[in-house]
Amino acid sequence: MKNYFIFIFFLFFSSSLYPLQVAGVRYSSRPEKTRIVLDLDSYPFYRVEKNASSLQIYLPGYEGKPRTLFINNQLVKKLTLKPEEISTSLTIELAKANYTYRVFPLTNPYRLVIDLSYRQSRKSLQRIVIDPGHGGKDPGAIGWGGLKEKNVTLKIALYLRDYLKRDGFTVFLTRDKDVFVPLRKRVQFSNSHQADLFVSIHCNASLSRYATGFETYYLDEALDPLSRAVARVENSVVNLEDKVEKRKLTILEDLDFLEYRKESIMLARLIQAKLDRYLPTPNRGHKSALFYVLKGIDSPGVLVETGFISSPYEARLFRKNSYLKQIARGIEGGIVNFRKEFEASEGFTRKFSSHRNF
Ligand SMILES: [Zn+2]
Repeated sequence: MKNYFIFIFFLFFSSSLYPLQVAGVRYSSRPEKTRIVLDLDSYPFYRVEKNASSLQIYLPGYEGKPRTLFINNQLVKKLTLKPEEISTSLTIELAKANYTYRVFPLTNPYRLVIDLSYRQSRKSLQRIVIDPGHGGKDPGAIGWGGLKEKNVTLKIALYLRDYLKRDGFTVFLTRDKDVFVPLRKRVQFSNSHQADLFVSIHCNASLSRYATGFETYYLDEALDPLSRAVARVENSVVNLEDKVEKRKLTILEDLDFLEYRKESIMLARLIQAKLDRYLPTPNRGHKSALFYVLKGIDSPGVLVETGFISSPYEARLFRKNSYLKQIARGIEGGIVNFRKEFEASEGFTRKFSSHRNF
């Protein structure tokens, strides 16, 4: 009852004094998925109704004329934004029935994101993309004694591939030799291979030779300056990429893929817990930061900083294949535990029928 009252109050207020402004309607398509984004001037309160081959979203208040946007791809025919008496209705007409959808608001700036897909929700976890950081003209961090990050990450990735295959996973590597792969291409690779999980492998570097330990990141705003610095270093590879790739990356940033946040946090936590069992170095925990390579990944994804290549102690360890195997074992263990959680909860199933956020 209380919620209902707040909603009525909001409707009244928003339609009379502050009508909701829809500044823009955008969309992006992939073979498997269409994303529609409404740019708004205030926090979007909404209600969703699913019909056989259309999706109806109601937002309180409105100003302006009806608008229609023709998409006409494999999934979506068109969408219409129309003022009703006290609300705005957004009608999305689908090309076929049996679609799935997710609707979620984002703030700063205010947006409402609607994802539509024909992909049935996953019940098992099968396909893993491993992303060995750097490669080719991008050596990554140069460690103690000239050790290159790109070589360490590739070796760990190859061991990890073997272990995961043995566990029954289907594994793909964004690179399996010493070649340069732009960040955007890594993201595209993962999505086009329909990964259920994405794991990027890196080594950390610090100006202090005493910095040691391993940490696993998921995509979100960094909470501390150290995490921000790690993301800045890992993202700096874009300076080696051509202009087109750089531009694509900026578009991507706009979309803020935070939808697998909960799953990614769990994966990061489970990988840390297993690495802690296998490695003698300090556990620096699971953390968040804005890594380009995790943006746009259409699955849970993490970036593992396996240790400090700048530390003489860890650089010595990184030179031993037996140590790289230990790291691969730790990451493998985390993924296997994640699969257990995933399957026990039937793919973290969400209710998709109808929902509202007020
Ligand atoms: Zn790196």
